Order: sequence, then C-alpha cells, then structure tokens
Amino acid sequence: MKIKEKGINSSRMPVYRDAGFELYDASTAAEAFSDESRHERDPGFYIYSRYRNPTVVAAENAIMELEEASWALLTQSGMAAVDVAVSVFQNGSSGRPWLFFNEIYGGTISFIDNVLKKRRGVDVRNFFPDDEKYDLSMFENLVAEVRPEFVYLEVVSNPMLIVTDAGRVIETAGKYGSKVIIDNTFATPQLWKPLEHGADLVIHSVTKYLSGHGNITGGVICGNDPELLKAALEYRKYTGHMMSPDDAYRLSTQIKTFGLRFRRQCENASRLALLLEMNELTDRVWYPGLASHITHNEALALFGDRGFGGMITFSFKGSDRQEKQRRRDDFIARVSDRIKLIPSLGDPSTILLPVEPVWGEKYPEPGMIRLSVGFEDYGELERTVLKGLDIS
Ligand code: PLP
Repeated sequence: MKIKEKGINSSRMPVYRDAGFELYDASTAAEAFSDESRHERDPGFYIYSRYRNPTVVAAENAIMELEEASWALLTQSGMAAVDVAVSVFQNGSSGRPWLFFNEIYGGTISFIDNVLKKRRGVDVRNFFPDDEKYDLSMFENLVAEVRPEFVYLEVVSNPMLIVTDAGRVIETAGKYGSKVIIDNTFATPQLWKPLEHGADLVIHSVTKYLSGHGNITGGVICGNDPELLKAALEYRKYTGHMMSPDDAYRLSTQIKTFGLRFRRQCENASRLALLLEMNELTDRVWYPGLASHITHNEALALFGDRGFGGMITFSFKGSDRQEKQRRRDDFIARVSDRIKLIPSLGDPSTILLPVEPVWGEKYPEPGMIRLSVGFEDYGELERTVLKGLDIS
C-alpha cells in the first residue's frame, strides 16, 4: 500500500513543501484553476504554494481562533501584512485619503513615507493626539473633515506604550464610513480583540508574541468580511507576500503556548515596572499598568484584569544628558550576560533596546531603555535588573 493511500496517523498538519501541487490531469487542472477564481482560503485543490499552502492554512486556523476572526492570512513578515492590509483599500480611482495615527511602529512610518507617499502617491494624513493627555477629542473633527478610506492605529504604541481607546476610534470612524485597521502586535488578542469591537482588519507582526521565540519572521492579517478576504488573498498572491510552509509549521507548534507565555510576560512586566518605578536611579517608567502612565485609565478600561502587556520603557535620573546616557550604557553592560540588546520583542528571555540610537532624539528623555520582558523566572530577572541598577 502506498503511504499516500494508507495515511499517517499524525495529529499534526505536516510540512508540505511542494512549490506546485500535483493536479493529475487536464480536467482536474481546469477545475482547480476555475475554483481559484473564488479565492477561498482553504481550496479543494492546492495549486501553488505562493497562492495557498495547507501547512500555512493550519497555522492560520490557530490565529483565527485567537483573534476570533472568520479568516486569517499569514505573510512572510509583519511589514508584508501591513502592505496587504492597506493595499486592499487601494483601487486607483478612489480619492479618499488614508489616516494614520502618528504614534506607530517606525518601520510602518518608513513604509508610509517611502512607499505609500513617494512611490504610490497616496494621499496620507496623520492624526497627532495631544502629547500630554493623549486626548482623542480632535479625532472626530479630523475624520469628519478628511473622511478617510480607513484609519490605521496600534492599540498599544511603541516605545511609549500609549494605549488608545480603540473602541472609540472604531465607533467614530464608522460614523463617517471609514474602515479601521488595527496593528495588535503589542496588545495581542489576550488583552484586546479588535474584530470583536468592530475593526475591519487586524494585523500582527507574528515575529513577536504570537511565535514568541525570536526565530520566525512573519505577519498576519485577520478579518471577518469575505470581500476583504478575497482582496487580501489576491494581493498576497500577486505580490508573493506568503509565509513559508516551514515557518508556518513551527508557528503552529509555538502558538500553542502563546497564552501561557504572554500571561507570564504580563506578570513579570507588572512586577518589574513597579520595581523600576521605586528605584532611586530611575527617573520615569512608562508601563500602562502603572497609575503614573498617561493612558493608565484607557488600559484599565480596555484590558480589564487581563494584563498590561510585556513592554516597559524607562529612563535614568541624571544632572545632564551625558550622565543619563552613561547610566544607560552602564546598565546595558552590567545586565548583558542575561539581557541582550536585540532589536525585536516578545522573545522568551528579556531583551532590551536603547531608545535614542533607534528612534533618534524624538522622545523627551535621553538615555531611555525599552525592555521586552520575557517569561523567565521572575526572581532571576529581578536579580539581573538590580545588578544593572547597582551603578553610581
Ligand atoms: N508592527 C509592529 C507594532 C512592530 O513592532 C513591527 C516590528 O517591529 C512590525 C509591525 C513589523 O513586523 P516585522 O518586523 O515582522 O516585519
């Protein structure tokens, strides 16, 4: 008996590395290509892995469950997911602008400037909430005036960890016929599920918490609208923004522990944020779970008792810029055996990033550090951080 006929009693979807799938004869090929025009996510016949792949579909099913979405499409990076999400709304003739919140991932800002504006000539507008209070009161005026095709935001921003009242944004956008795209990478579906609250598309850099081990680069777009699914599938196919079956297989395994990992990351981060805030060498600590954070109330309202995320940003006291930067550098050197300087987040172990070398002098405090708190033993993490803070 051939293996194919016998079947293998595995509980997992195997890695199907086929670039092209066998279509047996001319009439099957005709049927497969005719079905292809319906743009189903999990078609009767697979044709070509750039279009669709069963191992990728299995990982997408896991994400659909997490985000409570009707569909999910994996891509080869978070930026590819951003591209798919915004491009499905581009139809050449539509003149409606696209509205982006100002406080979003720097790579997305570069994509907007260098691709959307410079190369595609898209009419992009920005919403700058009031810096001090992060007040959304001007948002409705702007949406009423601009009537954007869509509004794009992150529930928890980077690196200041500002929590936006995304429910209010969705409601306001809806009044003016604007769609809403939410990058939920930092909040994750554990803290908030945008589709449940009426968002049109949700994206993630899967590279971060969903894969959670710093070993996969990937992205995902999720939604409920079948027309958006069709458009997103088509765009992913034509641009080749497709995740590889090997990455999808590993993602299927790693995503099983997402809930456990992220809960622990939230717990560790909450404890560490308090420790940092009480330390005499630190100046400010930005963590949405702290009462001192400018959007603590928004975080409480949105996340309830589910946690406040795994990211913390903090700065050092110092008489001048040099002293603050020196303390930052001493801290980084003293923790470097256990806390590595890695420009990513959501890894198993705590990792850090100095803010100025990455973002420039855009933020108020010199010498800031962004921590992505891991799910290691808290005692060990606390000992390492205290060792780092044992500086003059
Ligand atoms: N969105 C957010 C919030 C991110 O932090 C990142 C990357 O850091 C991206 C999107 C892009 O993801 P990727 O690096 O997987 O392309």
